[in-house]
Amino acid sequence: MIDFRSDTVTRPTPAMLEAMMKAPVGDDVFGEDDSVNQLEAMSAAMFGMEAAIFCPSGTMTNQIAIKCHTQPGDEVICDKLSHVYQYEGGGIAFNSGASVRLIEGNKGRITDGQVKENINPDDIHKPASTLVSLENTANRGGGACYDFTDIQSIKDVCLQNKLKLHLDGARLFNALVAKNESPKQYGEVFDSISICLSKGLGTPLGSVLIGTKELIKKARRVRKIFGGGMRQAGFMAAAGIYALENNINRLADDHQHAKMIQSALQAKDFIGEILPVETNIIIFEVKGRYTAPEMAAKLKEEGIFVIAISPKQIRFVVHLDIHPEHVKRTIEVISGL
Ligand SMILES: *Cc1c(COP(=O)(O)O)cnc(C)c1O
Repeated sequence: MIDFRSDTVTRPTPAMLEAMMKAPVGDDVFGEDDSVNQLEAMSAAMFGMEAAIFCPSGTMTNQIAIKCHTQPGDEVICDKLSHVYQYEGGGIAFNSGASVRLIEGNKGRITDGQVKENINPDDIHKPASTLVSLENTANRGGGACYDFTDIQSIKDVCLQNKLKLHLDGARLFNALVAKNESPKQYGEVFDSISICLSKGLGTPLGSVLIGTKELIKKARRVRKIFGGGMRQAGFMAAAGIYALENNINRLADDHQHAKMIQSALQAKDFIGEILPVETNIIIFEVKGRYTAPEMAAKLKEEGIFVIAISPKQIRFVVHLDIHPEHVKRTIEVISGL
């Protein structure tokens, strides 16, 4: 089975498991888990920020950040494809009682001009615009990356209008590797950053929310309320430490594999638009001979698992359990379709 459904399907490697087995642990709700404390300190330092908190999922880190940055009745500005809006079960309304201003961006990315146009005036009839949430890479944009200068322009608009800026960085490391950027650049600009350890970095679970000491103190209270206070979570944090130390630079291999698969797809007459492949995600249109579900079924017969994300579109996600021989086999199968 060659599984391109998501970069969440990875299994821990023997080396990661060994790091987990050896982890010093304690009760993290008491702040006594050395491995969790180490992961949090390491993440904060990496981004040049003050503090961090380890959570079970990226949904939780995003939702905690939104809860901390907003009051009920406020409005969050984000792209209409963003995970915080599309795939977190209406959590912005459920957890924070906030409304959402959706922007029609470019492959999941929005601009400073769009943010500016969508900030409500200071008028008692209007929800108060208090937070902008960006996603980098943009999942539904085919793993598209922001240009950092565009993020800086958005930050300027936020500062001028007293809005906070959150980053859903579930796949931020893919963007950093693809664009040759550093985490510290991001730490300077965002009020909070969520990173996922369980996507391209390959851990069994976990995300980290990074921000100021004050924000993370508040986040600790919200995490407890959301039911995310964990005990000997250090076994999982140790996987995160291992991943941050070993699995970032290798993301370049995933990006190269994605480009190779893109080339194989381009040669086929039943493949329509392929979103630009910048990182580890390939989203493309299927036309003519197959619908997207039919092509997915054909691939499945060959042991290749992908997701038809719409009747016309398929998504491949490349990750650390996709090895060169899997890419070779996949290209052979595509060529034979
Ligand atoms: C996966 C993902 C998340 C977090 O999802 P969880 O499954 O809750 O860990 C957040 N944002 C994006 C863009 C994602 O792809």
